[in-house]
Amino acid sequence: MICFMCLQCGVQFAESETPPDACPICSDDRQYVRWAGQAWTTSQELAQTHKLAMKEDAGVLAFGVEPRFGIGQRALLAETPGGNVLWDCVSLVSDEAVTEINRRGGLQAIAISHCHYYSVMVEWSEAFGGVPIYIHADDRQWVMRPHASVKFWEGETLALNPSLTLIRCGGHFDGGQVLHWKRDGGNAILSGDILQVVATRRHVSFMYSYPNHIPLNAKAVRKIARAVEPFDYDDIYGAWWNTNIIGGAREAMRVSVDRYLAAIA
Ligand SMILES: [Zn+2]
Ligand SMILES: [Zn+2]
Repeated sequence: MICFMCLQCGVQFAESETPPDACPICSDDRQYVRWAGQAWTTSQELAQTHKLAMKEDAGVLAFGVEPRFGIGQRALLAETPGGNVLWDCVSLVSDEAVTEINRRGGLQAIAISHCHYYSVMVEWSEAFGGVPIYIHADDRQWVMRPHASVKFWEGETLALNPSLTLIRCGGHFDGGQVLHWKRDGGNAILSGDILQVVATRRHVSFMYSYPNHIPLNAKAVRKIARAVEPFDYDDIYGAWWNTNIIGGAREAMRVSVDRYLAAIA
């Protein structure tokens, strides 16, 4: 039995003898099937040609697969006095990464913005003794490798510890969530692509599908704006290396919502 991984999105599936018929995440309107056709790999096979990079991104320890794989995201370690949380996830785990996280106090939990970054979340959880993986219940259907460590939560916010709060924004996915991080030197929102930090790195945008250029409607964008409005933050960390708004992020969010709504009006 093998846990196959979709070569296009890097998401690992439940054990099977033969590869799944299709990847529902890539077949969905928001993604696309690999141009050469659906193909599969495994995390063991991937480790022969790729490695897990570990370096700081704007002061936060981050992990990404190199060369670029899947959707190209990097995961972030939100370190707090009440416990550390891995935000978003990538398709490889390494002994070096596990050792370094344990040296920094271990891992309390994993939380992932939405299914495009579920990757090998179960392998990451198992590497830390089966820590919980927090996913919003409205995205239940997108979990391709069900596991006891996956904790579906309901409602609009969930405090993981005194410094970290999950905020359900919806938008790109109904259960799309971001992580608010109270920290010395400036609070942050870790946003995945629920709030997408764009090229200026002074704005965010909002899309139903990024690769297929399908925008979100005004109602969904206003809902996202309302969800993060009560929170205080200076920085937004996006989904990829160096796609961050450092300083003034709350104002950047306000300006971005206004210009987006004007553009689609
Ligand atoms: Zn896929
Ligand atoms: Zn996405």
